[in-house]
Amino acid sequence: MSDNRVTIPETLSSDAELDRSLRPTSFAEFVGQTRMVEMLRIFIQAAIERGEALDHCLFYGPPGLGKTTLAYVLATELDVGIRCTSGPTLDRPGDLAGLLTNLQPRDILFIDEIHRLSSNVEEYLYPALEDYRLDIVIDQGPAARTLRLNLPEFTLIGATTQAGHLTAPLRARFGVTERLDYYDADELTTIVNRSAARMQVEIKPDGAEELARRSRGTPRIANRLLRRVRDIAQVKGDGIINLAIADQALNLMEVDKMGLDSMDLRILNSIIDKYKGGPVGLKTLAITVGEDAQTIEELYEPFLIRQGFLERTAKGRKVTENACEYLGRPTALLRSTQQQIL
Ligand code: ADP
Repeated sequence: MSDNRVTIPETLSSDAELDRSLRPTSFAEFVGQTRMVEMLRIFIQAAIERGEALDHCLFYGPPGLGKTTLAYVLATELDVGIRCTSGPTLDRPGDLAGLLTNLQPRDILFIDEIHRLSSNVEEYLYPALEDYRLDIVIDQGPAARTLRLNLPEFTLIGATTQAGHLTAPLRARFGVTERLDYYDADELTTIVNRSAARMQVEIKPDGAEELARRSRGTPRIANRLLRRVRDIAQVKGDGIINLAIADQALNLMEVDKMGLDSMDLRILNSIIDKYKGGPVGLKTLAITVGEDAQTIEELYEPFLIRQGFLERTAKGRKVTENACEYLGRPTALLRSTQQQIL
């Protein structure tokens, strides 16, 4: 490894802090996802006119595309309060009861990673979602009694990177289910320019476009790269982000022309070198590249699949010929091509 390589610190806390500071709070600031936004605006208006809570909403898609942001935007647009929690932290029904009983009428309860709710909490949630009531069991055995609590009307917003892991009964209780998609380069350029303005850093149009192109279609990554590029512009240049500085900084951070980072490349190259292009199972792949299987599945794979570099098959993950061409590797290295040649 060369000495001048800049490692990207992946500290969650600093990323969370950056997310919070740059998070849009209204539809006016929310870029892209046009069809979905248009639809949500209609549902919001209808709910406000009827004086009702918005239907329960489920947002799914890869991390960093704006699911949490949308929950906050909906709270602003509906002019209601929002309480946030996440599937893994809500491990006892009592925690859920505490949250629900503190809601004001029409408030939003946001549950991130909702696919990771424990089954007993989930069952507790069903009557709350359907009839705005909670049945609390007091005592155990023959003395057990059920206490019924009426709740105010509220909106549950669930977010997940793994819609397929949600149980069918839970999924059925959402009136609105929407997939967030990757952003195109123009949308990301707008996001980069807005974030730069908020961070009070000067960025030239070509610098913003370069950052947008190399951000994997993901606003969170665009913002994170912007912050690091700003540091490099300050230390190695005059603080202004132009194409040359952006390119130099992104190369230092090992973000390639299409936004692939070192782990993306390791995944593709390992499948080619060690498994003749695949198929290889997710767990084996995870061990081979030294990354957590869930992270590969939720964070890396969706982008590689979308770029047409990776395929998910019943037998495992396979690299495509497109990936070989992009990496400058001979396609003859792939098992499927070898079979065709034979
Ligand atoms: P998710 O919940 O899907 O993981 P977040 O909502 O936390 O993603 O988004 C991460 C960050 O990306 C936000 O804090 C915000 O700064 C930015 N962001 C996401 N979506 C948008 C958008 N549509 N317009 C502008 N910025 C966005």
